[in-house]
Amino acid sequence: MKNLLGGKGANLAEMNLIGVPVPPGFTITTEVCSEYNKLGKEKATALIKNEVEKGIRYIENIMGAKFGDADNPLLISARSGARQSMPGMMETVLNIGLTTSTIKGLIAKTQNERFVYDAYRRLIMMYSDVVMEKAAGIEPEEGKGIRKQLENEMAQMKKEKAVKLDTELTADNLKNLIALFKLKVKEVLGKEFPDDANTQLWGSIGAVFQSWNGKRAIAYRNIENIPHDWGTAVNIQAMVFGNTGDNSATGVAFTRNPATGENMFYGEWLNNAQGEDVVAGIRTPKNLPSLKESMSKIYSELNTIQKKLEVHYRDMQDIEFTIENGKLWMLQTRTGKRNGFAAIRMAVEMYNEKLISKEEAIMRVRPNQIDELLLPMLDPAEEGKLKPLTKGLPAGPGGASGQIVFTADDAKVWADKGEKVVLVRDETSPEDVHGMHAAEAILTAKGGMTSHAALVARGWGKCCIVGCNALDINFENKVMNVNGKTLKEGEWLTLNGTKGNVYEGKLPLLSVDPEKNPHYKQLMEWADEIRKLGVRTNADSPEDAAKARNFGAKGIGLCRTEHMFFESDRIKSMREMILADDEQGRRKALDKLLPIQRKDFEGIFEAMHDLPVTVRLLDPPLHEFVPHEEESQKIMAQEMGLTVEEIKQKVEELSEFNPMLGHRGCRLGNTYPEITEMQARAIIEAALNLKVRGIKAVPEIMIPLIGTVEEMKMQEDIIRNTVEKVFAERNDKIEYLVGTMIEIPRACLIADEIAKHAEFFSFGTNDLTQMTFGYSRDDAGKFLPVYLKKGILKNDPFEILDQEGVGQLVEMAVKKGRATKPDLKIGICGEHGGEPSSVEFFHKAGLDYVSCSPYRVPIARLAAAQAAIKK
Ligand code: PEP
Ligand code: MG
Repeated sequence: MKNLLGGKGANLAEMNLIGVPVPPGFTITTEVCSEYNKLGKEKATALIKNEVEKGIRYIENIMGAKFGDADNPLLISARSGARQSMPGMMETVLNIGLTTSTIKGLIAKTQNERFVYDAYRRLIMMYSDVVMEKAAGIEPEEGKGIRKQLENEMAQMKKEKAVKLDTELTADNLKNLIALFKLKVKEVLGKEFPDDANTQLWGSIGAVFQSWNGKRAIAYRNIENIPHDWGTAVNIQAMVFGNTGDNSATGVAFTRNPATGENMFYGEWLNNAQGEDVVAGIRTPKNLPSLKESMSKIYSELNTIQKKLEVHYRDMQDIEFTIENGKLWMLQTRTGKRNGFAAIRMAVEMYNEKLISKEEAIMRVRPNQIDELLLPMLDPAEEGKLKPLTKGLPAGPGGASGQIVFTADDAKVWADKGEKVVLVRDETSPEDVHGMHAAEAILTAKGGMTSHAALVARGWGKCCIVGCNALDINFENKVMNVNGKTLKEGEWLTLNGTKGNVYEGKLPLLSVDPEKNPHYKQLMEWADEIRKLGVRTNADSPEDAAKARNFGAKGIGLCRTEHMFFESDRIKSMREMILADDEQGRRKALDKLLPIQRKDFEGIFEAMHDLPVTVRLLDPPLHEFVPHEEESQKIMAQEMGLTVEEIKQKVEELSEFNPMLGHRGCRLGNTYPEITEMQARAIIEAALNLKVRGIKAVPEIMIPLIGTVEEMKMQEDIIRNTVEKVFAERNDKIEYLVGTMIEIPRACLIADEIAKHAEFFSFGTNDLTQMTFGYSRDDAGKFLPVYLKKGILKNDPFEILDQEGVGQLVEMAVKKGRATKPDLKIGICGEHGGEPSSVEFFHKAGLDYVSCSPYRVPIARLAAAQAAIKK
């Protein structure tokens, strides 16, 4: 009943029902919180007054004590608890019911004056902060909050008494401290500390409700996408104390190790302490085995309970307990947080122990947690100690450290000398690829999640942060300014590409080999058994293809051919083709490119033998390939027997205002059919060459950026005619497909017509997102962070598919395409193919496969299995 009782309340009730010792109490539901927010304090309080009083009587009966009674007082706590955990975001008040009259009774009852005064000073600290200040809407200046001021009083007292620990203050010291506290409260907040149990109770209930709308809580809900109308429950419970003496203790524990997943009871405890002491870090807690030594009977009871809880909840539990005068109480249980390694190990072992099903095991691991196994990561303990220098978009996950360099050439030179470098640019272009490859990580000031840097880095599994607007780079002097700091070439940076955090200096990294992890291998095997969606990879080199195959890819869903033209052995011929004045000139250059392309394809087909390889024809605007620097323009002029001026003029002619919407994709192949001819020939000749060597290639030729049927028909004709010619020349054949990318909104609208000429569709959700939103892929980095911060967008649509808008176009195209060809093969090769929530959407939309960068293949496999289970 989490929705009604909140996580904490529901679990307390459930523990009680299964016979685990829980201090008696009751829960005021989340619905009351909504009423409280609607009706205001007075009216809402009137609504629940009788029931709360009844609840208090119930606790009194069980505990044999009375709330507010001078002789035999009961103390209670009021704790928040929402449906979903919001750690530390809402408030709690403990020791409610201590007043000048009940203090005496409690001292008589416990024979422990020091304990009672200590409880009272804690009540004053919490209550004045939570109820009298925060809930009253008082916003003190930084460091001037009442809690801080009372802490200062206490520190002063310890100094005067020459003691270090809170526990060293005597009852008399505490009595004096309390008098000072009360004066301070009056002075700062202008009100007396309430000396009446019922006033404290209602003040606390109201404050917990109000903390739902505290600043921190609202900000947290915005980040975590938690609805603001859920509300918090209030748990009213009898206090039990772990600080009444040496026969008392308190602790927190996990039913399995949350860092490794190992099945061992794991936790910390402190004797003679309250819960907050364990987490506050003032005293160093002891590990659990020592509890076994000092209180063996209690330990074995606790051990039995933890096992019972794990079996009951069928998952690792994070528990809190208190021992009061030799009696064990459970204060909380909840599903424990864990890292990726632990999640995988626990899931597999719990299945082996017959605690959960295979499907549950698969659902227990968040797909992105697999990154922790595949990529080096920053040591979280070290990272936690630091504040990031700045933040950007998390384009390539994992962690990396290196010395700053500002050009691709420098990156290469430094890396060749054995240095580790981080390449820092405004943005990257295909001309930087050699330096990007040499660098440990890439950091750019501009660009979005599908910018060049992001695509390339993800393909290599390289750490990358883009759109880091705070960077102000001076390339001439090789320095950059970041938030008032100046960093020079050669200084160290560390990047957390999973979070988008940039740190100054060099931080330690953790890395492992997933193939050596039997739990990972087992889980992935199960995922493959269950998933319906195929998983391919985006790769344009034999190395990447082989890597992805190792990660479990069943084919290539996108081989971008443009990357192949930047290698030094062919860029000149490519430029010659582009700069040529007529078809004849282009054909001459293309003849030089043909054998090179053919060889590239042979390598890729061989690495992916027996599996389909979707080769996409040339896509980017030609302008990207021409020389922009004077030096390279000179070389081209010599090469082609032209003047530098002529080259410059040609480059000028090719430049476009909106290259992303310009002369690219099939528009190139339709204006210069000879380019398509050359590529089709290279693909088919490569496949035939392999056939001769007994290797099976399965090519699928894909046309980019189709928006009209005529575009498709024309490209299809060129391809099929060329292929027939090659078959005749070779007197041999192979099977091949011709299909198209669906990445222009218009193509989705007329997908039924396009399908008449296509044997497969592959959604290019990068361009589809760009053109549906009208956000330039290359420029969105400037405004998307602001949009996210202001809540105009919930997510970056280039990272997480916009199911509401772009998703409709995808669904429409699937429906229309299959209306024409019921068994039309449909995939997706945009960046969303490796993003778990998008993978789930593609499963539901009925796609046959997703294609993603090699390092995301395992993530997609797991996400696909989860999608199948959820459906
Ligand atoms: C796309 O647009 O989604 C796609 C895969 O193609 P590219 O990113 O190369 O434009
Ligand atoms: Mg595209």
